[in-house]
Amino acid sequence: MSGIYIHIPFCKQACHYCDFHFSTSLKKRDEMVGALAKELELRKDEFNGVTIETIYFGGGTPSVLSIKELQFLIESVYKNYKVSDNPEITLEANPDDLSPERIQNLTHTQINRLSIGIQSFFDEDLKLMNRAHNSEEAKNCLLVATQHFDNISVDLIYGIQNATNTQWIQNIETALSYNIPHISCYALTVEPNTALASFIKKGIIDDVNDEKAQEQFYILKETLENKGFVHYELSNFGKEGFFSRNNSAYWQGKSYIGIGPSAHSFNGKQRGWNVRNNSKYIKAIQNGELPIELETLTKTDRYNEYVMIGLRTMWGISIAKVEKDFGTVFKDYLLEHANAYINQHLLYIDEEHLRVTKKGQFLSDGIASELFKLNLS
Ligand code: SF4
Repeated sequence: MSGIYIHIPFCKQACHYCDFHFSTSLKKRDEMVGALAKELELRKDEFNGVTIETIYFGGGTPSVLSIKELQFLIESVYKNYKVSDNPEITLEANPDDLSPERIQNLTHTQINRLSIGIQSFFDEDLKLMNRAHNSEEAKNCLLVATQHFDNISVDLIYGIQNATNTQWIQNIETALSYNIPHISCYALTVEPNTALASFIKKGIIDDVNDEKAQEQFYILKETLENKGFVHYELSNFGKEGFFSRNNSAYWQGKSYIGIGPSAHSFNGKQRGWNVRNNSKYIKAIQNGELPIELETLTKTDRYNEYVMIGLRTMWGISIAKVEKDFGTVFKDYLLEHANAYINQHLLYIDEEHLRVTKKGQFLSDGIASELFKLNLS
């Protein structure tokens, strides 16, 4: 089982917190769509008969593409790969691209899952983050999208500087009022070289407050779990049957091909990164070359990655798997370093799996890094 990720590197405007790869100039859009289709063709032998279970349009903002362009890329996947009878095909979309007519037209494609970047239902939050949509557009698009799609995920951001806990609860409740089966939530993070980092440095905006973010994380967890959502990954909550198949495959270490500038790939042994530049990407692909840098993962890299992902998901770290895949030295290292966190009630062992406790959940990335092994080779 494998997946294809297609990166659409265009956005209408730059959100202040974002460090993904995108361009706000859509001038090269036609060439880019052609290059994406060509990369799909150039890499068709990498999966060698393996069935594609998920196709994911991420970005950037994939919803800036026309229905025709999206359909063309889906057809390129079908033409070059063996696709399962029941694939999950996700489109990341922003509310300002989801007019009622557009949503209706999307139902005529094979796209069967929408991941909608709402982030907040409050105009002041949306302005602070420089999102391209407003609160009314967010609500209108959900009203129509839920009439046409069963499988919808909404992205929300917590820990926004001026947003109180009361507003955060209202955001969660507004999302829930549309009966969507999946919610992804991320803490507002200050990435270097973003507009947000510069505003904070100049004192124009307050820095983010980790304590407030932590409080809002636990408000979120409690509210969604009480409504029947399963907290299956640090940032992801889903009703049974609606966990993201694309992300779950990634967390289970399945292989995937990343198409487009800046996209990552993984074939079980090597990780690849496509060049993070639209012009260089298009030029290389037009010349029939793959602009990809490959790195072969060491056993230690794979162990570290498994620990990081394991602690973020409800499945935890299988101690038996660590011993089987990495050896007794790694298993002993893991247990020895986990001990201090078990004593602080941040980790626990249950049925041979090491997991984070509720108290440790917000800290899971930091704890994971303490369990990493150093690459000494
Ligand atoms: S729309 Fe998404 S990818 Fe584009 S700038 Fe905003 S957060 Fe980044």
